[in-house]
Amino acid sequence: MVSLQGAVSEHLSSMNRVFQKSEMKGQAVLVRQLRDIDACDALIIPGGESTTISRILINSGMYKVIRERIMHDDIALMGTCAGCVLLGKELIDSTTDIKLLEALDIQVERNAFGRQKQSFEKQIDIKGFSTPYNAVFIRAPVITRIWGSCEVLASVGTKIVMARQKNYLAMSFHPELTSDLRIHQYFLEMI
Ligand code: GLN
Repeated sequence: MVSLQGAVSEHLSSMNRVFQKSEMKGQAVLVRQLRDIDACDALIIPGGESTTISRILINSGMYKVIRERIMHDDIALMGTCAGCVLLGKELIDSTTDIKLLEALDIQVERNAFGRQKQSFEKQIDIKGFSTPYNAVFIRAPVITRIWGSCEVLASVGTKIVMARQKNYLAMSFHPELTSDLRIHQYFLEMI
């Protein structure tokens, strides 16, 4: 898990709870510096501020290493909220401060739910989940377009909020802020 900014410790504990229940050997660790990535099969890019996370990724050298792993199909990635922005290939935003990791064929718009809806919770249906999932949105982005082999997993009205392509998973909400572990479980099964 990239320990750069945002709700990192919650992701760590959710993922480790899933590991405890699973047959799979492994553990979630915080990635604080470049060489920590070498030991990881998968990476979670957390929520936070996408401009800040992008800057840290570049300055630490992690951006280059993650891009290389993506090009060699050698890493599974989950991006939540700001992390969803960074995993996309296109961005609708006036900022030029974000360098996208370009993992999924998605176009993302930052802060797309508007001011009056800065934060909210909503029961959403996720493809493959048998019961609704309570999603927490905080100044959330929206996936405005997908293409290629990318698949929509969840929407709120007409807005796409979760998508998967190969072993990359992007969602505009915060699965680490609920006790429902199904999304971390789903990601573990993708690795
Ligand atoms: N609005 C933030 C951004 O685009 C994301 C907010 C979040 O991660 N909770 O960077």
